[in-house]
Amino acid sequence: MSEERMVFKAEVSRLLNIVVHALYSQKEIFLRELISNASDACDKLRYEALTTPELTGDDSDFRIDVASDPKGRTITVTDNGIGMSRDELIENLGTIAQSGTAAFIESLEAQDGRKDALAQIGQFGVGFYSAFMVAQMVEVVSRKAGSEEAFCWRSDGRGAFSIEEASSGKRGTSVTLYLKQGEDTYLSDDPLRSIIKHYSDHIAMPVYLNEGDAPVNQASALWLRPKNEITQEQYNEFYHHVGHAFDEPSLTLHWRAEGKIEYHALLFVPKSKPYDLFNPKRRHSVKLYVKRVFITDEAEGLAPPYLRFLRGVIDSEDLPLNVSREMLQNNPVLAKIRQGVTRHVLGDLLKYSKKTDEYDAFWGNFGAVLKEGIYEDSEHRETLLKLLRFSTTESDKLTSLADYAARMKKDQKAIYYLNGDSPETLAASPHLEGFKARGIEVLLLTEPVDDFWPAAAGSYEDKPFQSVTRAGQDLDLIAPLEEKDKEKDRAPDDEIDALIASMKLALGGQVKDVRVTVRLTESPVCLATDEGDLDIHLERFLKQHGQIKKASVRILEINPHHPLIRRMAVMKNEDDLKDISAILLDQARLLDGGTLENPAQFTSRLSAILAKVV
Ligand code: ADP
Ligand code: MG
Repeated sequence: MSEERMVFKAEVSRLLNIVVHALYSQKEIFLRELISNASDACDKLRYEALTTPELTGDDSDFRIDVASDPKGRTITVTDNGIGMSRDELIENLGTIAQSGTAAFIESLEAQDGRKDALAQIGQFGVGFYSAFMVAQMVEVVSRKAGSEEAFCWRSDGRGAFSIEEASSGKRGTSVTLYLKQGEDTYLSDDPLRSIIKHYSDHIAMPVYLNEGDAPVNQASALWLRPKNEITQEQYNEFYHHVGHAFDEPSLTLHWRAEGKIEYHALLFVPKSKPYDLFNPKRRHSVKLYVKRVFITDEAEGLAPPYLRFLRGVIDSEDLPLNVSREMLQNNPVLAKIRQGVTRHVLGDLLKYSKKTDEYDAFWGNFGAVLKEGIYEDSEHRETLLKLLRFSTTESDKLTSLADYAARMKKDQKAIYYLNGDSPETLAASPHLEGFKARGIEVLLLTEPVDDFWPAAAGSYEDKPFQSVTRAGQDLDLIAPLEEKDKEKDRAPDDEIDALIASMKLALGGQVKDVRVTVRLTESPVCLATDEGDLDIHLERFLKQHGQIKKASVRILEINPHHPLIRRMAVMKNEDDLKDISAILLDQARLLDGGTLENPAQFTSRLSAILAKVV
């Protein structure tokens, strides 16, 4: 087969453009990325060889070689790892696997040249493409373990690549960079050695430079080394490798579990939010090793989905080396490790939460994910509740449940919250008026997950969670408003009773009930949820997702102090009263973020009423 030319997938071309033109600040990281890939390739083959020893044959000492050729102005990184077939070369080096990439790249292009662009780009596995920061041409020759054929992939990084058969050579991959003008630093031993030392010391495979006798790096698993011998910088570089990440970790957790179950764990919490955090698969990214041998990064039971922001390694002493990936499903040892890891991580997060500013940033990135644990993991619910942070009506700082409890009114029994789409809609919600007027704090919840966890949690330290949209709040028992406010300009009871009767008649089956409320101070009306009915916001969520068809009928609450209600209470024209009642019901729906069933009817009624006053 002769040479074949192919074009990159559109996303790759655009990414390449960003990588090459916008990210000059740390060019030398290309070497770290190539060595990281070589190390991954050796890990993969070592695992395959556990069951198929022929794959490594008599060449089972894995190694990575970096070689420079000052005459040809090339630098080559070679490994004897798993290698790539022709299809894999095309797939791995010519496309970007993740979905949703295109939209993300657009946002990157918009922030052209920004430093954190690199952190974000890293998430797409652009590691390999960083070679084009220093190379005008890149050549990858690879022979897959167990195959006789080798192929050569070649590209100048400008939109196309070629692929052709190569003479078979040795198993594994060698990546050759033809350096651009001005990149000669990478041809001399000293700078190369210090770059490898700096960025790849933690790599567990030996890395040799220009066929030297001893490896340049320590070539031992970082997670086995004593903590006091590891610098944060080494941790950070290991995080870049293991997490395929380009940002810094905000938290590094390194410990060793001894006793019934033994393992080493080295885990990181990223500083920036992975773009696929809310991918429906909810897969975690912790790698499983057994006695130093990489097994898989897909051991589902190793960490709970609500800790899927973690990156890193868990190395078990108890699992058998020949554990197959299938055997890992429902494995009791793995389940024990997961319990231990979860407890440890949550404990460390609890300590971390004392550093308010840092923890608030963590919360902003991963809080919504952590909340999933409240309904999924009852065993750790108590700890998780302590980790929660909220925006509230009474504080401009993020608030914990302990803070909230300390600020509760003397006779307040419940922890109040309100769900909505955004802080803005919540701020405008009539439901909050009576709470604000009395200084009773309400938690403001805006994540989709917030529709689910309060019901699962039930209570925090015996204080039940209660949505302010539930009917029957007797706010005056907690904190009565000033007597003069209360009686000021209130429509008399008999008039209100008559009005309620007319409104019920006018609205018929559209409302469950009409009643007076103390929760409103500014608005004339609002909707309330009856005991046993779905929360308004949750119901809308389920409706949008096709889970339920018909919305439940709500209670309409009216504010007897409001001038409109007082005028309605003495109105004689039954037809106008009917129209105004219907308009008010629609208005309440709108304020709860809902939509109108019949906008045309709403506007014609509104116009009819307006016509009478203008
Ligand atoms: P990532 O390492 O984050 O997956 P890269 O851009 O660094 O992204 O590499 C893309 C893919 O190319 C890798 O996932 C791997 O499948 C393949 N690859 C790169 N280098 C090698 C190598 N030396 N040996 C085998 N496969 C490799
Ligand atoms: Mg990589």
